[in-house]
Amino acid sequence: MEITRRGFLALSGAVGSQAALGAFGLMGPVKAYADELSKANKVKASKQYTTVCAYCSCGCGLICSVDYMTGKIFNIEGDPENPINEGSLCAKGAGFFDLTEANKHRLRKVQYRAPYSDKWEEKDWDWALNRIARLTKDARDKDFVVTNEKGELVNRTESVAHLGSSNIDNEECWLISMSVRSMGLVYIDHQARV
Ligand code: SF4
Repeated sequence: MEITRRGFLALSGAVGSQAALGAFGLMGPVKAYADELSKANKVKASKQYTTVCAYCSCGCGLICSVDYMTGKIFNIEGDPENPINEGSLCAKGAGFFDLTEANKHRLRKVQYRAPYSDKWEEKDWDWALNRIARLTKDARDKDFVVTNEKGELVNRTESVAHLGSSNIDNEECWLISMSVRSMGLVYIDHQARV
């Protein structure tokens, strides 16, 4: 009898009991799933919400498990009952949990590397936003003199580009695309397309 992770988690509704484990007829694979078992028990004791991965138009289904006591998400995984993905997720969707505050490795401070420097410096957000605004304004002032063949001002800058992240959802992509276009940018790309 082949055991899949999803099958194991589903059957572990009866788990906890030797009878259920014995239903597999295999103790080796059960041992290998020991960590998953304790996670499954935690998941069973949580409140679960279904949602949809926002990263691309596939719209894979997710299950978010929220701890009753803390109100925080502690697990996100594919929804086996969603007909689109049937529990599977691509690497982006599978990494969804890392976007939550539980990920201690998220960058929280601005890291700046000056031109020609080989060192990163920590900066505060006000410093970063002022510098971005200053450089963007300077670039626009320099570039907003270009005209088309009819002599019309085209109001675009080719000195600034925007590169999006694969960890941006559809709505954020739309918002970024609209705002940078309104600033005259034409070089707009997205990491997921590279
Ligand atoms: S899990 Fe991957 S394929 Fe599914 S919606 Fe998210 S990004 Fe798209």
